[in-house]
Amino acid sequence: YRAKNSGGGRYCLFSEELAEEHQRKIDTEAALSEAVQRGEFVLALQPQLSFATGEVSGAEALLRWNHPREGMRLPNSFIPVAEQTGIIAELGDWVIAEVASMLAEWQSQGIERRLAFNVSPRQLDRADFFQRLRTTLSDAGVPLSLVELEFTESAAMECSQHVLDEIAALRREGASIAIDDFGTGYSNLARLRTMPLDRVKLDPSLIKDIESSEQARVVVQAVVQLIKGVGAEIVAEAVETAAQADILRAMGCETVQGFVFAHPMFEEEYLNWTQNAERGSRSVA
Ligand code: C2E
Ligand code: MG
Ligand code: MG
Ligand code: MG
Repeated sequence: YRAKNSGGGRYCLFSEELAEEHQRKIDTEAALSEAVQRGEFVLALQPQLSFATGEVSGAEALLRWNHPREGMRLPNSFIPVAEQTGIIAELGDWVIAEVASMLAEWQSQGIERRLAFNVSPRQLDRADFFQRLRTTLSDAGVPLSLVELEFTESAAMECSQHVLDEIAALRREGASIAIDDFGTGYSNLARLRTMPLDRVKLDPSLIKDIESSEQARVVVQAVVQLIKGVGAEIVAEAVETAAQADILRAMGCETVQGFVFAHPMFEEEYLNWTQNAERGSRSVA
């Protein structure tokens, strides 16, 4: 009786679950691939503002899946599967092509404002990633100086020397390099010091409690000092209140991105928003 419940039965249940999960992944992978082909993805743009001047310095492109039945889906519901299955490479190609096409369109309207986009570690598995990025941008007539590549802290710390060299070369050619979600992984401080780097984005978990907790402020101030010490600028991300913004500005952060100033917007709304932001005397201080 007991043996029946453990051994065989358990094993069978386990493999059924595995098979189901495997099937779910295959389904999602196929759905994502079809969605790319059907043009169901769209980029939302979240402004980044300079603390010093209040000007919009650029934006981060954030992927959205305009699902025909389920509506607008956020990345957390599909990026993890896309990364596990490898379909992120296809999605990532689409993001870069769309970034290039938006920047080219804006350039023709006399708008030169930088766009940042997220790069998944799996995209770097492809040896020709950097060369294809150059080609996509130059085919669109867009200089590298208009893009910023965001790598997560763990991706930046784990990538090979070869990839680091590629990143350094791209940066010398004008691209901006950012580390995303800094403070959640384990940074190799020697690498951080030598890494080709322009900006570091503080992880939201670091700044969440800075209004109420002196300890949280001490930690953020130390991190800010460390990043400045290696010559990079700081982007405070997911800033939700004016009080948080005040503290981060006083600590020396250069740039702010968060709901307190602007949510991610689709292209047209973003362009209108930035125009109004420039006309008005919007201040982030
Ligand atoms: P991320 O790159 O760290 O992007 C910032 C996330 O914080 C965005 O979520 C943004 O909407 C959110 N955010 C910004 N300001 C605030 C705020 O004040 N409060 C709060 N609560 N959230 C704020 P989103 O768009 O849902 O993206 C989540 C993650 O999905 C991104 O985190 C990034 O890791 C990933 N992701 C998005 N687009 C892409 C993409 O094109 N490629 C890859 N590989 N990953 C992407
Ligand atoms: Mg367009
Ligand atoms: Mg990001
Ligand atoms: Mg982030």
